[in-house]
Amino acid sequence: MSVLVYTESEQGKFKKTALEVASYAKAVAEQMGTTVTAITFNADDTSVLGNHGVDKVLKVTSSELEKFNANGYASAISQAAKKEGSKVVILSSSADSKYLAPLLAINLDAGFASNVVEAPSNVSPFTVKRTAFTNKAFNMTTIDTDVKLVGVSKNAYGVKENAASATAEDFSPNIPELGVHVDSVDKVTGQVTIADAEIVVSAGRGLKGPENWGMIEELAEVLGAATACSKPVSDLGWRPHGEHVGQTGKPVAANLYIAVGISGAIQHLAGINASKVKVVINTDPEAPFFKAADYGIVGDAFEVVPKLIEKLKEFKAQQ
Ligand SMILES: Cc1cc2nc3c(=O)[nH]c(=O)nc-3n(C[C@H](O)[C@H](O)[C@H](O)COP(=O)(O)OP(=O)(O)OC[C@H]3O[C@@H](n4cnc5c(N)ncnc54)[C@H](O)[C@@H]3O)c2cc1C
Repeated sequence: MSVLVYTESEQGKFKKTALEVASYAKAVAEQMGTTVTAITFNADDTSVLGNHGVDKVLKVTSSELEKFNANGYASAISQAAKKEGSKVVILSSSADSKYLAPLLAINLDAGFASNVVEAPSNVSPFTVKRTAFTNKAFNMTTIDTDVKLVGVSKNAYGVKENAASATAEDFSPNIPELGVHVDSVDKVTGQVTIADAEIVVSAGRGLKGPENWGMIEELAEVLGAATACSKPVSDLGWRPHGEHVGQTGKPVAANLYIAVGISGAIQHLAGINASKVKVVINTDPEAPFFKAADYGIVGDAFEVVPKLIEKLKEFKAQQ
């Protein structure tokens, strides 16, 4: 009857979100008086999961599931949930998990709550706090199906140490005929992606043109950050569309989001609400972004950003 958690990995290594959902699963299991089982796909060393509250790991090793496949993964996770008698199944809020959730909900006849930000306030009835309206509001949701499916928002619960040793067991689910095959995935290397970044440096039309992005890239490099942009910037072809943040772009749940020359239109803010600390650099003190900012610098990006880079380099050199 353990709580089942799907822990995502890439090239055998667990993502930070995997440790976050494992930590969350532990909190749920404690409330329910049960244990945590994790399911992994082609992951190498699963012992780290034990440090985050997992009691047992079901290790799926399959060349067919080497690359993410929603049907294949959903089928395997459902079989694991049934094998473990899990009444609660926990996922992250990654793009992959968003494909998985509806399939799992069907397979397990489960109610699904997405964007969950806290451990359940009650497990009977099973009640969770979720964000709504692109993080502008919260609601308390009760899932009353027998099996409950929970999608945890990135960075909301946090990674918590929970020293334990997880036992590992090979698990060979029946993989259905896969209708979709991923032949290859080409990933940009050497750069942090917006989805995984702890820090994001983002810039808007205030930068005037693509030729001025050098300082944004340099600031990102100094900070080990990903670069991002507003919609018009990618529409104008100054930056790739993969960097566009917002309602129609990508959501960012970074620890630090630095917005340079971005006005802070509601559609942009919709994508960054889940970020923790927001720093805004803008010449216009009335720019709406300042209302959403934790720290604001009223100033010209072309003066402020180079100074910031200089100071950060000095600071790093002293470390
Ligand atoms: C249906 C719909 C969906 C949308 N989805 C998105 C979305 O997902 N993401 C998104 O970003 N937008 C989206 N938009 C567009 C959004 O409404 C804004 O138009 C856009 O976010 C503005 O981009 P910007 O802030 O880069 O540019 P601008 O609005 O032109 O603002 C530029 C800012 O830079 C400042 N500035 C100028 N010069 C400097 C300088 N030298 N130094 C510092 N600051 C300077 C200005 O004061 C200004 O605040 C959407 C719009 C619609 C209608």
